[in-house]
Amino acid sequence: MNNPFSRLSLLWKIVLSFSVAITLLFAATFWITVRSATRATTESNLREVQASFHAYQSLWKSRSDRLSSISAILSAMSDVRAAFSTGDEATIRDTAKELWSRVSDDDAIFLVTTPRGRVIASLGGAPAEPLPEDIPAVREAAGQFPAQVSGFLALGEQLYHITITPVYVQANQGTGLLNVLLAGYAVAEAVAAHLKSTTGGSEFLFLSHGTVVASTLSPSDSAMIAGQLATSPADVHTGRSEFAPLLTPLKDIQGNPVGQLAILHSVDAANQEITNLRRNIGLLWLVSLLAGLGLTYFMALRIVEPVKRLDRAAAEVAARNYDSEVPVKSQDELGRLAVTFNSMCASIRQAREDLIRSERIGAVGRLAASIVHDLRNPLAAIYGGAELLLESQLSASQIQRLAANMYDSSRRIQLMLQDLLELGRPPSGRHNRHSLREVVSSVTDSLALDAEMQGVRVEIEVPDRLEANLDRHRIERVVANLIGNALEAMPGGGRITITAIDKDGFVLVAIRDTGPGIDPEIRDRLFQPFVTGRKGAGMGLGLALSRQAVIDHGGEMWVESKPGEGACFTFRLPQA
Ligand code: ADP
Repeated sequence: MNNPFSRLSLLWKIVLSFSVAITLLFAATFWITVRSATRATTESNLREVQASFHAYQSLWKSRSDRLSSISAILSAMSDVRAAFSTGDEATIRDTAKELWSRVSDDDAIFLVTTPRGRVIASLGGAPAEPLPEDIPAVREAAGQFPAQVSGFLALGEQLYHITITPVYVQANQGTGLLNVLLAGYAVAEAVAAHLKSTTGGSEFLFLSHGTVVASTLSPSDSAMIAGQLATSPADVHTGRSEFAPLLTPLKDIQGNPVGQLAILHSVDAANQEITNLRRNIGLLWLVSLLAGLGLTYFMALRIVEPVKRLDRAAAEVAARNYDSEVPVKSQDELGRLAVTFNSMCASIRQAREDLIRSERIGAVGRLAASIVHDLRNPLAAIYGGAELLLESQLSASQIQRLAANMYDSSRRIQLMLQDLLELGRPPSGRHNRHSLREVVSSVTDSLALDAEMQGVRVEIEVPDRLEANLDRHRIERVVANLIGNALEAMPGGGRITITAIDKDGFVLVAIRDTGPGIDPEIRDRLFQPFVTGRKGAGMGLGLALSRQAVIDHGGEMWVESKPGEGACFTFRLPQA
């Protein structure tokens, strides 16, 4: 029950539950949607990068194939072989130049070297820096001759894709290697730009030993990305854009890496899409939450209001006001509940009236029976006594005893009649400030003789300063009743102690005796009317009337008693 949620009103519980539910729903939708969107865009990025890579491969292959086939045709031509057979470098240069001018690409390079790699003729293309006189790659390719050999070649700061083709001549003992043709394309900005335009916008970055050789990006961005690729290739970005990279090693003729190709596809558009998606879901959540909250609040009000009315009416019933009615404003379960509640109240009212009526009739009957029963004995004693006095010659002592008996009986009748009078009399309502000690003393004074004759000692421990606002006559009757009961409980003598203290704004008056204690049979019903333990000698109204008088003063009365250990009646009154 300490749960703070349980302290919230029903309305807030409904509203809060709804907002938590809708938020959870949106969080799950958000998570699933963003996850699928991210996966879809990642896959699409990957597909685009792979498509770019295939485009790069086919472009590169077609250029390489072209050079390979040109070189192969040249190497097989008889006049080329004849010229190369002369061994005269000027003849070789001239022949090669003439043939190359007919077939070559402008941007391709074409070299004729000796089998050891020394350059005899350097044709075609416009290399960024002068080509070296000696190409070691030719010697390295010799192992794979007579086949053509392809691969990347790094020369200085430049990267080339080359095809090496051997030129053989028929000699006496088989064939002899005359010269070697080396044809290739420089990997240049133009190549990268061409690749970019044919592959739908991916960026291309060629690196050789960590240095940018060609790129479609600006020099500063290229340098930044080259650095990132060397350290963390998964996270590649410039200040403005983020990329999904695909790295391919560029291998030389022997298969050793001499550089890298990075194909970079920008993920900015995809990221923007996901950001938009997030924002849209967030906005949708907010709008749904507000609309839902408004709707739930309105609906919850319609549920909670009747419940509140029922709650208030039930509290009235608990406070014994059975006249409360709940308005019926709907035909649903709550409306039916209100109808049932109203008819329940009507039934209670009816049952209560029936009960009061029958209780009254019963009370009158019991009272009449009790009066008849209780008056019969003392009346019989008076009647018998008077008859004896009239008809018999009695001695003075017998007359004395009979008169005393008649006096006792008539006094009992008087007390009974006084109780009955008390029963019908409404409270006077005249409350004045009185000293408790005075009230108690006036009662004990009037009963002092009876107490003395019974051998009962009465002790009063009531401080003078204690005062209460009270109807003196009624409270005196209360004290007289309690002392009278105590006296009746101790026919063989004993002690009555009357104490009073003030506590928490009340005056507590206790009347304790050393009698036999309350009969357990009537202990629980002691303060009910007509409950008596003195067969025929009392009407059982004293304690009921006394307690009612104390309650009418805003106080309470109770008893503590153990069989054989006396009884202690205590009542409390609000202090003056
Ligand atoms: P009544 O005196 O007419 O019987 P009361 O209401 O005054 O009616 O008392 C009810 C019963 O409570 C008494 O008959 C008696 O049996 C019991 N009773 C009251 N006071 C004492 C007491 N001090 N000691 C033992 N029994 C008591």
